[in-house]
Amino acid sequence: MTKCTEIDSLIRTLSIQLPSPEQRLNLDCKNANQVEIWIKRDDLIHAVISGNKWRKLSNILRIALQSPPAKIISFGGGYSNHIHALAYCCNVLKIPFLAYIRGNYAQNMTPMLTDIHRWGAQIEWVDKVTYAKRAEPSYISQLNAQYPNSMIIPEGGSQQAALQGVSSIVNELIQPYDLIAAPVASGGTIAGLIHASHNMDTSVLGIAVLKGHDYLYDLVNQFLPAKMKTASDETGASAKWQINSEFHFGGYAKKPAELLAFCNNFQQHNKIELEPIYSGKLFFALSQLIEKNYFPKYTKILALHTGGLQGIRP
Ligand SMILES: *Cc1c(COP(=O)(O)O)cnc(C)c1O
Repeated sequence: MTKCTEIDSLIRTLSIQLPSPEQRLNLDCKNANQVEIWIKRDDLIHAVISGNKWRKLSNILRIALQSPPAKIISFGGGYSNHIHALAYCCNVLKIPFLAYIRGNYAQNMTPMLTDIHRWGAQIEWVDKVTYAKRAEPSYISQLNAQYPNSMIIPEGGSQQAALQGVSSIVNELIQPYDLIAAPVASGGTIAGLIHASHNMDTSVLGIAVLKGHDYLYDLVNQFLPAKMKTASDETGASAKWQINSEFHFGGYAKKPAELLAFCNNFQQHNKIELEPIYSGKLFFALSQLIEKNYFPKYTKILALHTGGLQGIRP
């Protein structure tokens, strides 16, 4: 019960709007009437904190408030939704925040970096080689030695402790679904969805937004207990969850005209904003799969809108 109260007070402090709305969606594609598709609007839970980043951070921020660390440290690119959300939370919660940013944007600040600078974040620019070490135990212990009593949060906020917060998405649902679909990058979101729906008649479909099919399975499996792990070549009805890697459009942050046109059409048709890096690929993939009759007739699908709209500001 105490956990619940602490999370509730954190939600109040940060003005997070929960539960997020769950709406019927009419996709503008062939065979759309063969399935039933709903959307969970985690893009609406906060004006700044990006949907799934709050879900992943909620539990770890609760722990941080119990005995405040000297610093919270994390890693991301120059447009990172995770760094943006975390810097905002740290500013409100008055916890010093250090962001290791891949590349050097000092002369060319992105809107994301301008925001976190304004919120008092300390920024360290790191080159590709150093950034690649971000999850290595020896590098983490070096940071721990350099910054005693700090809390280090992995890239994207994806870690074991994130799963509990992500499960709140499933706990909020107002009805059962056959399938929950979400984009996959650092894997914590889909791992949380898999974990929370394990004892339900619900499977989970991840849409890879970057290349590296087996690598993404490894990322997700590392957060899951043995009985929930799935091999990267396991497909069909037996697989409780899978990742589809056909819709990454050549890699993270690639924005081909076809994808941008899809996002525009989706926005006009549904009056819901999309960005092409995560949610655009999710809904593009679902449309294509529905057109091909990939899902059994009458499948009830929930697509998770993970937010991320700050990342595409000019
Ligand atoms: C980070 C992010 C994702 C990917 O979630 P992971 O847990 O890293 O797999 C999806 N959508 C948005 C908007 C994100 O910012």
